[in-house]
Amino acid sequence: MATSPYRSWAEVSLDQIAANFRAVREVVGPTIEVMPVVKADAYRHGAVPVSQRLQKEGARWLAVSNVEEGVALRDAGIRTRILVMADFLPVGRLALIEHNLTPVLHGLADVSELEALALRTGKPVRYHLKVDSGMGRLGTRCPSREIIEAVSRARALELEGLMTHFASVSDFTSRQTEEQVACFSQICSDLRQAGIAPALCHASSTGAIAYDRREAWHNMVRPGHAVYGYTSPARGPAPLNLLSVKPVMSWKAAVLTVKDVPAGALIGYGGMFRAPRPMRIAVLAVGYADGLPHRLSNRGKVIACGRLAPIIGAVSMDVTTIDASHCPELKQGDTVTLLGAEGAIRIDAQEIAKLAGTISYSVLCGISSRVKRVYL
Ligand SMILES: *Cc1c(COP(=O)(O)O)cnc(C)c1O
Repeated sequence: MATSPYRSWAEVSLDQIAANFRAVREVVGPTIEVMPVVKADAYRHGAVPVSQRLQKEGARWLAVSNVEEGVALRDAGIRTRILVMADFLPVGRLALIEHNLTPVLHGLADVSELEALALRTGKPVRYHLKVDSGMGRLGTRCPSREIIEAVSRARALELEGLMTHFASVSDFTSRQTEEQVACFSQICSDLRQAGIAPALCHASSTGAIAYDRREAWHNMVRPGHAVYGYTSPARGPAPLNLLSVKPVMSWKAAVLTVKDVPAGALIGYGGMFRAPRPMRIAVLAVGYADGLPHRLSNRGKVIACGRLAPIIGAVSMDVTTIDASHCPELKQGDTVTLLGAEGAIRIDAQEIAKLAGTISYSVLCGISSRVKRVYL
């Protein structure tokens, strides 16, 4: 078995990022712009290397959450358009303009404030406006008439995009998405009738692409999860998943030590596990401070020697214990797989999420900076 180069590390396949991006492009076709979402450090895959690769693959837009994330990409030399989606505080306004980031505005009062800034700096400023079509989070809930008024008044600005976001996009037991689609389409058409035609309209994240909600694709889509190789399972009578994407990240850890314990031995904090028989255990160099969910205590699994090995006892901050009885050759410095595949055996973020009572997004975003990222 290969000797571990680090205590715990994540291997990120940039070729797979590229393949997943192409898979999304193929599904939506050449007339729809694909804007990969690289917020939260590209769901912890590393925003800079991921964005560099996407730029090389021809992405013209990238989406981030906040101004700081956008500035980091500019500092790394990313030249695509960058959309800042999750609002900004007054303190970030100037940086937005200076770094040529494109803001999403979430309220009509922000339109006039941004215009004042555009006039002061003398720079042309384009913005996207987000409509709350029923998610009840960010975005304006004002009626079309008021949106038209505010947008028309701000002559120094260009409304380049109109967007919304869905709350229950993979849920086909609820009508919430249909209602949101109808609301957003109505506002788009009201604006067009008033002579306001933003170049881009966008609403679709991974779920709307995967489950063929093409009435919501408009002329731009915003996949995040799919770029990293995941689509969440749908609820209810969903159409077939159109996307064939594969996970980009594998997560590994080194074996710190292996030892034999007698029947009855207690393992780890709280004595949560008692050995039912003499056992061989391995202590791994990974814990909840690395992002391995504490909820996997006594219930998670890893892959050791090409087979599933149960986590026994509590996941602690820096180490985790597994049952290695099936693998007498396992030794210090060997590698186990927390996320990814060994041969035909595979664990993905969705399975970890299920065991840990969370969602795959949170599993990926939880893998902390202590875990070294290695780019393949
Ligand atoms: C995170 C995010 C996305 C991407 O969602 P995925 O489900 O990861 O594809 C798209 N749009 C907005 C507004 C987001 O916040």
